Amino acid sequence: MIVAIDGPAGSGKSTVANRIAAELSLSKLDTGAMFRTVAFVAHARGIDLDDEDAVCGLAGSLAIRFQDAPQGPRVLADGRDVSAQIRTPEVDRIVSKVSAYPGVRRALLACQRSFAEGRDVVAEGRDIGTVVFPDAQVKVFLTADPRERARRRVLQRHGGESLAPEQFEREVAETLADIERRDQIDSHRASAPLRAADDAVRIDSTSHSIDEIVAMIVDLIKARS
Ligand code: C5P
Repeated sequence: MIVAIDGPAGSGKSTVANRIAAELSLSKLDTGAMFRTVAFVAHARGIDLDDEDAVCGLAGSLAIRFQDAPQGPRVLADGRDVSAQIRTPEVDRIVSKVSAYPGVRRALLACQRSFAEGRDVVAEGRDIGTVVFPDAQVKVFLTADPRERARRRVLQRHGGESLAPEQFEREVAETLADIERRDQIDSHRASAPLRAADDAVRIDSTSHSIDEIVAMIVDLIKARS
């Protein structure tokens, strides 16, 4: 069984996919983490991000693995834990450039498909239902109002810590600008753009709780399995 969850940044894909993986004992595949890893390692090694051949060469040679850990799955690049480094604002800024290169997508596509061999998987990303697993039994396209997506990202970034209202608003405005820029690049690139598969179920999470969304998707999975 493959469950595909696609959608723009901050739509709740990761939270929902983690919950579904835990409730139904599915393996979780976070494809965004793979693109982030290529972007982070390219940057860390001083590779010019405009040099498409160099970036694609890196994507083809890098061993990206996921490892279960008590604090959540870790991402390893050539054996080194990069889980924290791939979630920085710097990587947010550069990842869409790297993920638009067809050679990067080809290299990661092979890893994504091999991850799913012989397992039941919930995979989240931008092109899971359209390109990576077009035969997935369940496809969901998760959206939410852009401001709500930015608000959630800021809350997530700061955990339970409370912020002064003006700092919170400033961070929401900055995050909204970044999300809209990334959505624009991700939706308009030539190779595997962000879009809903024709047979995906669209869910707008703006005014639903995580519990409600998870329940809707679990019902869909049960109905189709
Ligand atoms: O999901 P996340 O925000 O971590 O994804 C980071 C970036 O990786 C996206 O903005 C997009 O550029 C790229 N991505 C992609 N295709 C996927 C998953 C992520 O192009 N399947």
